[in-house]
Amino acid sequence: MTLFPEMCERVFTESITGRAIKNGYIDINAVDIRKYAEPQRKGRVDDAPYGGGEGMIMQAEPIARCFEDIAGNSPEKPYFIYMSPAGQTLTQDKVKELSERKHLVLLCGHYEGVDERVIEELVDEEISIGDYVLTGGELPALVLADAVARMIDGVLSSKEAVEGESHYNYLLEHPQYTRPPVWRGRQVPEVLLSGHHANIKKWQREQSLIRTYKRRPDLFKKAEVSDKEKEFVENFIAEENGEKD
Ligand code: SAM
Repeated sequence: MTLFPEMCERVFTESITGRAIKNGYIDINAVDIRKYAEPQRKGRVDDAPYGGGEGMIMQAEPIARCFEDIAGNSPEKPYFIYMSPAGQTLTQDKVKELSERKHLVLLCGHYEGVDERVIEELVDEEISIGDYVLTGGELPALVLADAVARMIDGVLSSKEAVEGESHYNYLLEHPQYTRPPVWRGRQVPEVLLSGHHANIKKWQREQSLIRTYKRRPDLFKKAEVSDKEKEFVENFIAEENGEKD
């Protein structure tokens, strides 16, 4: 639900989400809230804030009518999310949880936001994409839709494509390389050119553990890591810091 449907369509009809829509794995629509404006307001859906202050507020009624129209055409009650900097921050866990729902409706705010009463009345959850403020909810909604879409079976070409990636299982992905084998004097790690599948897998797992431990110790604590692996990472880092002989 947006004031800028073309901006959204332009993004989700491209690349992987575009292909997934064409192949019928997902369906995404941008619905124009202006179509639900009061007839006398000629497409305007905002008004000045009570209590004064800067900017305009999106009115409750056009948003409610828009949502109720979408919900009325859906076989089951959609889960209604307001994209908001005041919501809970989006994580991969939340993305996984949302990907199990059949129908999400994302409300993109604009200007100074939306009338609180429509949030109280209809919205199931408020979600933020990070601790910063954007001009509108379109980019946040596209971020959420993209992240959820790639969790749906069939959208990516193989299951591993999701499972090896950063944040899945709380680990950051290992470094990746492609041709040429030497670029500006920098070599691709020898093991990746060896063709030895087991050694490559072992190296990738180790790199993933080391990278997560160094960059995101908060995630490392949540990840499933054996005692042996933890000891390996701690020894590796101690050696790197010159703390071991
Ligand atoms: N006055 C609001 C506040 O201080 O919380 C900010 C309004 S913002 C300029 C306009 C719209 O952009 C919001 O209604 C929301 O839909 C969207 N938005 C901005 N930052 C966001 C974020 N970090 N996550 C999700 N949505 C965001």
